[in-house]
Amino acid sequence: MPENSRKVAVVTGAARGIGAATALRLARDGHAVAVCDLDEPACAGTVEAIEKEGGRALAVGVDVTDAAQVAAAVARTAEELGAPTILVNNAGITRDNLLFKLTEDDWDAVVAVHLRGAFLMSRAVQSHMTEARWGRIVNLSSTSALGNRGQANYSAAKAGLQGFTKTLAIELGPFGVTVNAVAPGFIATDMTAATAARMGLDFEDLKAGAAQQIPVRRVGTPDDIAGAVSYLAGEDAGFVSGQVLYVAGGPQG
Ligand code: NAP
Repeated sequence: MPENSRKVAVVTGAARGIGAATALRLARDGHAVAVCDLDEPACAGTVEAIEKEGGRALAVGVDVTDAAQVAAAVARTAEELGAPTILVNNAGITRDNLLFKLTEDDWDAVVAVHLRGAFLMSRAVQSHMTEARWGRIVNLSSTSALGNRGQANYSAAKAGLQGFTKTLAIELGPFGVTVNAVAPGFIATDMTAATAARMGLDFEDLKAGAAQQIPVRRVGTPDDIAGAVSYLAGEDAGFVSGQVLYVAGGPQG
């Protein structure tokens, strides 16, 4: 890849799952990557995988809901890797329950990580993007944005991210910054494994059952999502903004 198309990317929640696959994919695309997660030592595996392939990566411990930590993480990234102009807001949690059992804490925690986290990270990184007159923000939404039993908090946050995405696309477009969302369907990660455990189901059985409902007859992998993020973060997607790309093995999950 030509030197001038190499960028610095920030991926949150990149210690594992979709975030780890996305960080590795963006590194393969030629970008230096700040591998951000709650626990800095937990980022070591992703960083090692990138470095093993000759890429450049930095482990950054950050709670995306904490404005001071976010500011410090972005400043450290800029200092050690260069000004970040690609941001993937991927960090996420679930605290599933039916409405009548959903606690205020479970509501607040989920809304905080997905919405406040994406807001704080985007606000902190945008100055580097607007200064460079180039930027890419990709937010991780979900098919749950369309409604999913037991996920009132999560679906509200993931639907909220779609509105956030469209508004940032309008505000930042004049500065050469595109903002899009990827909305995965069922992806096999620790998050969906935890869902199986909570439901008292074997993960393999849950995946097999889910696959039967998906037109392509399989569940997704983190690499399926990483590929979509890579496209939206690249030069070829420069005229695509404010969009929600469902990556779900069928029409909108
Ligand atoms: P995952 O395996 O649970 O990984 C999420 C990562 O985010 C974890 O490493 C977690 O750290 C980190 N994280 C949580 N809270 C954080 C915070 N406050 N600050 C920084 N990092 C934090 O999840 P995944 O399945 O890869 O999902 C990644 C994204 O895709 C999420 O936004 C999720 O909602 C979305 N998504 C997933 C699916 C799916 O089927 N898997 C479908 C649709 C959308 P800890 O381990 O320390 O908590």
